[in-house]
Amino acid sequence: MAGIFKRLGQRIFRWLDGEPLPLPEWQPGWSDYLQDKVVFYRTLTDADKETFEYRVRHFLATTAVEGGIQVRVTDEDRLLVAASAIIPVWAFPDWHYFNVRSVFLLPGLFNARFECGEKDSLISGMVGTGPMAGKLALSKPHLHAGFDNARDKQNVGIHEFAHLVDGADGSLDGFPERMESYRVSEPWFALVKHKVEEIEKKHTGISDYATVNHAEFFAVASEYFFERPELMQKKHPQLYQWLSEFYHINLAEQYRSARRSH
Ligand SMILES: [Zn+2]
Repeated sequence: MAGIFKRLGQRIFRWLDGEPLPLPEWQPGWSDYLQDKVVFYRTLTDADKETFEYRVRHFLATTAVEGGIQVRVTDEDRLLVAASAIIPVWAFPDWHYFNVRSVFLLPGLFNARFECGEKDSLISGMVGTGPMAGKLALSKPHLHAGFDNARDKQNVGIHEFAHLVDGADGSLDGFPERMESYRVSEPWFALVKHKVEEIEKKHTGISDYATVNHAEFFAVASEYFFERPELMQKKHPQLYQWLSEFYHINLAEQYRSARRSH
């Protein structure tokens, strides 16, 4: 009897703990899809692509991708959600998003009550808080648009996972302590202040949304960094330097060397 309870207890514990489900089988066509849609994946070596695919499977085994009303979740949706999650933490092979358990796809822009088609339905992605903690909501068409256009420095999937990286230390404050536990944040926030003033004064190529608060600055800058690292290095070298250090990746160099080898 005790054994049964022990086994049952372990199962419940594993369920609560988010123990990975069996890894999903890699399907024919998935690599081609990533190759076609995800610039970051294209810049990886063959060996790294294999690692990326393993991490996609692992992510999908630990995170449910669900559809709200009027959304049928496809393999393509799952792959893009997983890519959005893995790209920011690529240099952290053991990273696990303990702060998200499921991703909810909606059929378009939504409001704070997750309703589409209302006047205030202006949100394309949102990290859940309070009773919605552990959930991430994304507009399915905007998730796809983020990858379809790889030049506009906008990618809502990466934006939202950058928030989860920032929030992994317990506070969504625009400074990812998890990545930089030994660094002081003052010089970063001094740069953010300077950049916000610049964005307010002139055209910088950085979305105005970055001026909303520190957390949005970090997420918007992350979108730009992961989509156009070489442009950021040229136009905003200090910002590029900081993000390279946060994310432990010299992405502009990765993009350049991928081009040289093709
Ligand atoms: Zn945001």
